[in-house]
Amino acid sequence: MSESEFAVVGGGVVGLSIAYGLLCKGKSVSIFDENDNALRASRGNFGLVWVQGKGAKLPEYAKWTRQSARAWKLFAEDLTQESGIDLHLQQRGGYSIYLSEQSLTTRAERLYKLKDHLGGDYPFEVLDHNALKKEEPQIGPKVAGAILHHEDGHVNSLLFLRTLAQVVRIKKARMITGSPVTSIEPVAESQSVPGGFCVQTSGGEMHHAQKVVLCAGLGSRTLGKSLGFSVPIRAQRGQVLVTEKMPSFINRPSDEIRQVDEGGIQIGASAEEVGPDDRETLDITARLAKNAIDQYPALAQASLVRSWAALRIMSPDGFPIYQHSQQSPGAFFVTCHSGITLAAAHASLLTDWLSSDNPDTYSDFRFPSFNFAEFNFKAFSEDRFDA
Ligand SMILES: Cc1cc2nc3c(=O)[nH]c(=O)nc-3n(C[C@H](O)[C@H](O)[C@H](O)COP(=O)(O)OP(=O)(O)OC[C@H]3O[C@@H](n4cnc5c(N)ncnc54)[C@H](O)[C@@H]3O)c2cc1C
Repeated sequence: MSESEFAVVGGGVVGLSIAYGLLCKGKSVSIFDENDNALRASRGNFGLVWVQGKGAKLPEYAKWTRQSARAWKLFAEDLTQESGIDLHLQQRGGYSIYLSEQSLTTRAERLYKLKDHLGGDYPFEVLDHNALKKEEPQIGPKVAGAILHHEDGHVNSLLFLRTLAQVVRIKKARMITGSPVTSIEPVAESQSVPGGFCVQTSGGEMHHAQKVVLCAGLGSRTLGKSLGFSVPIRAQRGQVLVTEKMPSFINRPSDEIRQVDEGGIQIGASAEEVGPDDRETLDITARLAKNAIDQYPALAQASLVRSWAALRIMSPDGFPIYQHSQQSPGAFFVTCHSGITLAAAHASLLTDWLSSDNPDTYSDFRFPSFNFAEFNFKAFSEDRFDA
């Protein structure tokens, strides 16, 4: 049977970011990933490294997200150094654009409240139409204004996924791909066996690891229950459109429209509660396209070259879940709906916790490199759903 300190189950951006962080800490890591039919949010996302609006109802999430966004620059530089691949990370700010004064005001009020919760440390500006037009000359006359958040940015997310997969191989992770993990069983400790877990795949692979990190996206539902996790996640569909390559005319991304480094305009993403259905639909495509043209009228002349739908992995309150199993100590469950944004935190802070000897000291857990005071990591435990 093969051996490693950590088995990471799931080779999307969450699993690979964690694996990368553990490898950087000198741990031996095996990564299990399913076959080509698997649902993969990591291949269908919008590529934002996004702070704006995150954690309006949970300041811990705002702090965690901002810490990750701040760590992204170094994270991207490290990945580029290891792989030679430029991820095209830009963190020059980003917008939420509004077509009505009312929705702009409502959003601004929410962000002012969050700013108060965070002691005033939350750098955003409210831009009216004219102020936005100075920043984005191609903005259309129907736009009322925008919130500009200075910590927002974006990255080439497919290159990011490819780079992570390359770098964990360079760092000698063992990759077991092509067949799903079918069981993760705790192994009883004895004189000859130091406990841990036996991970089995449908392809007949059997692997022993001291610790297991379950981050298999929607696939975590079946595997997690046997380890004592409740795994309260659901699929939420998002549809995205891409235009032909165009000359550069959008300076900063918004949460609905961005110009990627290759020149195409990405338009998205819907949020649909339709269960595990990743088909595209004409009505949503039309709605996204109309909204994009309202914001940037030049897009009326652009040809769409591709569209797709992908499934987000959503917890009931939308915040990440970081859970250590009480039933099977050494097993962890990790999920979030902003795996690009949080990748830098997952590779650094989260791996501090995963590799600590006391992962149950949640509330007192202190991350050596965390900038924010009064941070309660327990806010991300599954226990918050017990009622
Ligand atoms: C339309 C859309 C737009 C988005 N935009 C953004 C954005 O702008 N910014 C941002 O931060 N986030 C965004 N997200 C969210 C982001 O894509 C996800 O948070 C992230 O991809 C989740 O990664 P993951 O590794 O948890 O899941 P996945 O990418 O789904 O990966 C799970 C992996 O687990 C594997 N797996 C499943 N079951 C098993 C099994 N039994 N055995 C072995 N392997 C298994 C699968 O093969 C898969 O590779 C978006 C998501 C969508 C859908």
